[in-house]
Amino acid sequence: MNNFNKLGLSSKVIEVLDQLGFENPTPIQEQAIPYLLSNTPTDFIGLAQTGTGKTAAFGLPLIDRIDLDDKSTQALVMAPTRELGMQTAKQLVDFTSNNKKLNVEVVYGGASITTQIKALKKPTQIVVATPGRLLDLIKRKAIKLDQVQYVVLDEADEMLNMGFKEDIDDILSYTPEERVTWLFSATMPPEIRKIVKKYMKDPKEVSINTKEKSNKDISHKYVVTKTADKVAALRRFLDLQPDMRGIMFCRTRRETQEISDHLGNLGYGAEALHGDLSQAQREAVMKRFKMRSMQLLVATDVAARGIDVNDLTHVIHHTLPDQLESYTHRSGRTGRAGKKGVSLALINPREGRKISMLEKKINVKFEKIEVPTTEALKSTRINNWASLIINTKVDEQADEILKHLHGQFEHLSKEDILKRLITTQLDHLTGNEGEDNDLNESQKQGGGDEGGRKKKGTSNRFFINIGTMDGITKADLVHYISDVSGVDRKVFTDFSIQKSCAFFNVEKGYDKGLSECFEGVEVEGRAIRVNRDDEMPEKKGKGGGGNRASRRAKSHGGKPRSSGRGRSHRGGGGRRRRN
Ligand code: AMP
Repeated sequence: MNNFNKLGLSSKVIEVLDQLGFENPTPIQEQAIPYLLSNTPTDFIGLAQTGTGKTAAFGLPLIDRIDLDDKSTQALVMAPTRELGMQTAKQLVDFTSNNKKLNVEVVYGGASITTQIKALKKPTQIVVATPGRLLDLIKRKAIKLDQVQYVVLDEADEMLNMGFKEDIDDILSYTPEERVTWLFSATMPPEIRKIVKKYMKDPKEVSINTKEKSNKDISHKYVVTKTADKVAALRRFLDLQPDMRGIMFCRTRRETQEISDHLGNLGYGAEALHGDLSQAQREAVMKRFKMRSMQLLVATDVAARGIDVNDLTHVIHHTLPDQLESYTHRSGRTGRAGKKGVSLALINPREGRKISMLEKKINVKFEKIEVPTTEALKSTRINNWASLIINTKVDEQADEILKHLHGQFEHLSKEDILKRLITTQLDHLTGNEGEDNDLNESQKQGGGDEGGRKKKGTSNRFFINIGTMDGITKADLVHYISDVSGVDRKVFTDFSIQKSCAFFNVEKGYDKGLSECFEGVEVEGRAIRVNRDDEMPEKKGKGGGGNRASRRAKSHGGKPRSSGRGRSHRGGGGRRRRN
């Protein structure tokens, strides 16, 4: 007997669950479904993550609640990203495959709005939507929400993180007040509590504790290394474990692209996934990742949301997330379906505190491990190379080529040939690129400089055309510059913020290429420029910050900017959308 039977679902839904092979409800389904099917529909909060079966938890009762004789839009499911929206809609379509009278449509940005408008002309009882596109469609009168009885806010915390709060407010104002709201979220930050207070009446709250699951299947590890050595450290792990397959999370799109390009150039199977890619590019990357034609997906948190890939051995944190809750989201990508996985954080000496906070917060124990030394790597590379040669199946073409060589190697012994072959592979086998053998750093308790690198008089003064009139504070600016450049915050010091610009010191060695990092970056439509202050021709002038700023802006006005990859950052304070 199907164990979904006892939850009160209709036989039609059970029939489709049988076909899909859903036999046992997950904990969130067990708790949510009977409640959401109860006679008097009420508001509901489900604290659960992707992968816990929450789509079916709200989707199945929703399907049973829809009045099939009514052709109006009765249910609205809001999702933060198109990937998540598409996945949710796909599940709902699967659940209604034996029900021709029920129509589900999904609408999201980045795809043709005319096609979506056309699709919505059919009676559509359930609409799955991302907030931005839904608002567009409402404004174009392509969708009416006045008959909506059920609103599902899926991954509500992520929608708020992406700055959709106002859009949600707007959208809900088009739905009837007596509607029922079901909110699903992995975390419950105060902003979500505010939404609950504003839009929900005495909601029932169910929390699915995923901690135990993570504790069992995921081992949490970390290494301590300089920020600048993180990718080198990662490469050593990739080299040591060629069957490693995982996602590495980075903070910014630029960092994501740069790291994946760097790894790709070195011959690693790594690709980037971030919001600057077109929908088609993202789908192509995901296809390659699912088909295992790459080892590492380098992604931003938001772009990786909703991605459903099994069998990942590792989740790597290039930088730990600012919100510790996101750590659970990230690490939950591995250790799925009873398989073991590793969540590995690459932290700099000053981030140790984050590890102890995580340990307390999510109740896991982290194991500190060492970045493999070059010796360890060398012997692994040599052994791997030897077994590659031994296990290589000889191709027919090899015979041809050998004939072609006409005994050119005759004067060489087997050992000589091997030595020469090895010499051609020397860079790869020794991995010698002038980097330190030991990339491990000792952990600092409190502040202090990363690895004790900073010495007095070893910094350069820089200029940026962002100032107090952009509503930023020093802390905002430090974060912003570090975010865009991918360089540790610690190297930026001595900020002097003026009205329309700011000056700051950058530790020598970290300033190379800093200006270039800001090419193509915009703050609310304005191109951002960062330059060495001592390169300014008017350096001696004691004019106000505003003058200096405008002179700078002018002197670089003609500089070509990278186009097409229009990165847009907001200088602190404002809402920020990343995906
Ligand atoms: P979700 O958390 O809703 O994204 O679901 C994660 C995956 O688990 C999806 O591929 C679902 O189809 C699958 N799934 C959800 N509930 C069940 C269940 N009770 N039995 C088997 N598979 C399920």
